[in-house]
Amino acid sequence: MTAKIIDGNAVARHVRGEWKKRVEALKVRGITPGLSVIIIGNNPASRVYVRNKVKACAEVGLHSEVHEFPVDAGEQVILERIEELNRNPAIHGILVQLPMPPHLEARRLLGAISIDKDVDGFHLYNVGGLVVGENNIFPPCTPYGVQCLLEYENIPIEGQNVVVVGASNIVGKPMALMLMAKDATVSICHIKTRDLAQFTILADILIVAAGCPRLITAPMVKRGAAVIDVGINRLADGTLAGDVDFDGVKEKASFITPVPGGVGPMTVTMLICNTVAAAERNAAKQGERVAVTS
Ligand code: NAP
Repeated sequence: MTAKIIDGNAVARHVRGEWKKRVEALKVRGITPGLSVIIIGNNPASRVYVRNKVKACAEVGLHSEVHEFPVDAGEQVILERIEELNRNPAIHGILVQLPMPPHLEARRLLGAISIDKDVDGFHLYNVGGLVVGENNIFPPCTPYGVQCLLEYENIPIEGQNVVVVGASNIVGKPMALMLMAKDATVSICHIKTRDLAQFTILADILIVAAGCPRLITAPMVKRGAAVIDVGINRLADGTLAGDVDFDGVKEKASFITPVPGGVGPMTVTMLICNTVAAAERNAAKQGERVAVTS
């Protein structure tokens, strides 16, 4: 068996095309969805991610702006900017690019973002909503992108054994919750998991987000599994690799995502979706307010 290689760039293009129509519908009503990205410091990878977000916004017709702070910026000045953006009616989505410099308390800054504009989905309200299966939350973009890829490829989720390798707050844990909500049987593995292969071999859907190049090899994968590689690792020779041994595993899996060109383009795409959804919800709320007062 040779796996179908899931083309994340093609799926992302398709999804962006669909959401562009929703942006156009909002524009007819005089609303341009707006995203503010806060970046603190000079992390080169963060700068690339922010640039990609701005580019994707322009492509789909969103307004975007970048708020830059020096690496030693104090918490208060950033909190004040978040408050301003919370009040700004032209801005529907706000995110703080991670990682933050260590002197800043990420939980406090993320918690200051209005829950209606938390398009990265990291505010505890949105995290809690994911736990209890609330529909009206913003799902975190990377796991949301993985879910979208699975659905686009018609890979069944309900009743399937899903194994998520990696238990971070931004990828592994929300991923597990999202697929539990779709009635999968989910196991989460992490650095302390004994005999990782004993779990991965059972997976109908294997999602790997460990940040460990070629952690998953063919003998660890069930024949016919769908394998989603979230990992992005820069190797010593400068090339990028995922967490999965792509060449070996593709001979055994039914579906596989490449790195780059798999999950990566979906993460930015889902950020766009969340921002447009935020603008739509805001417009609906304004409409309700007008209806009540008239
Ligand atoms: P993270 O915060 O470092 O979390 C990694 C998780 O994997 C942790 O739960 C860690 O366990 C676990 N882990 C590490 N080594 C392991 C091993 N050998 N066996 C089993 N579990 C192991 O990383 P992250 O932010 O979730 O990101 C994970 C990877 O995805 C990175 O390569 C990152 O660059 C990539 N990523 C890609 C995208 C995208 O858009 N494609 C977006 C976000 C992240 P412990 O916590 O117990 O140490």
